[in-house]
Amino acid sequence: MLRLPRFELRQPTSLGEAVTLLREEGAGAMVMAGGTDLLPNMKHELFTPRVVVSLGRVPELRGITRDPDGTLVVGAMARIAEIASSESVRKQAPALAQAAGLVAGPQLRRAGTIGGNVLLDTRCQYYNQSYFWRSALGFCLKKDGVVCHVVAGGSRCVAAASADCAPALMTLGAVLEIVGANGHRTVAIDEFWLGDGIVNRRLAVGEILVAIRIPPTPPGHRGAYGKLRERGSIDFPLLGVACRLDVGDGDRVEHGDLVLTALAARPKRIPQAASRLVSTRLGTEEFRAAIDELGALAHRQCHTLANVPGDQEWRREMIPVYVRRTLQAAAAGNGPVHHV
Ligand SMILES: Cc1cc2nc3c(=O)[nH]c(=O)nc-3n(C[C@H](O)[C@H](O)[C@H](O)COP(=O)(O)OP(=O)(O)OC[C@H]3O[C@@H](n4cnc5c(N)ncnc54)[C@H](O)[C@@H]3O)c2cc1C
Ligand code: SF4
Repeated sequence: MLRLPRFELRQPTSLGEAVTLLREEGAGAMVMAGGTDLLPNMKHELFTPRVVVSLGRVPELRGITRDPDGTLVVGAMARIAEIASSESVRKQAPALAQAAGLVAGPQLRRAGTIGGNVLLDTRCQYYNQSYFWRSALGFCLKKDGVVCHVVAGGSRCVAAASADCAPALMTLGAVLEIVGANGHRTVAIDEFWLGDGIVNRRLAVGEILVAIRIPPTPPGHRGAYGKLRERGSIDFPLLGVACRLDVGDGDRVEHGDLVLTALAARPKRIPQAASRLVSTRLGTEEFRAAIDELGALAHRQCHTLANVPGDQEWRREMIPVYVRRTLQAAAAGNGPVHHV
């Protein structure tokens, strides 16, 4: 059995207190939300914080509310299960509700939060292992070592962004609200990522993600999430596909988006999705041709690596299949799409 290393637990009861504590403790402290990623990583000695600052008693981070302009404000401590079942999220952001519903299994969805999901550490099958396992291999660039076992001779870590909710939030144009010792800032989720598997997000030491703002979607908005995984019950994505279709008069697409994850350090948008989908009419041959073409484009633009488990060739061949199925599900107002 793997044991947690020793650490000091701090439980602030306000956002201000949490910010002060993190400023005082500096790089020796880590934030804990639901702990479903942090604690296993600590057991694997991937993180060894001296102090863990739990956000569980900070009321300012909870709940899902709506601003007068229709923006959904999802507190960083909103549980994944709460998001999956929220009527407001299902209506305004169906791709997010579907992605949340496919995160891990029921117990983890009740403990895990949306903030922790967005800030999930990148994953790699040579990294998410015990200290003993990693030491036998000689460690790697992301932690304690100097080589990469995925890209031979590689000088960059390509551990995979693996959070199911992140690509859905990208299709929704979400904005992150962050607070730290230097005050409050907002950042569009698209601008938040770095293409570096060691640390793939722009969050300074001591900063806290407070909330995620999801702008209003038009009445014809549809979205879906597709997830390839080995078991239907609990696995991380081997591939994640989020899509958006805003449909106007005569079932014509007015806005489209497609973002894939579990490939590289940051989720990947297919830039041609918008132009290829706009003006097509759902249910017609031109729409079917557009989604076939986007499947083929995604297949060309996305490369699977041995960073996450599963046969690489099989995962790559599943890209066009999942792109087509997820777009079809969104068009039909269905989803999610998942492999069982
Ligand atoms: C068996 C298993 C299966 C899983 N399957 C999936 C899956 O299929 N899909 C998936 O997406 N995830 C999966 N997860 C990962 C995890 O359960 C979820 O991503 C969850 O949403 C993480 O949220 P959390 O609140 O537990 O995060 P935590 O573990 O508490 O935190 C994760 C990281 O974010 C930081 N953090 C958290 N909240 C904040 C904040 N508000 N401000 C600043 N920093 C913060 C922490 O310091 C830590 O680095 C799985 C985990 C396990 C153990
Ligand atoms: S991709 Fe995997 S093996 Fe390579 S450096 Fe990153 S975590 Fe280590």
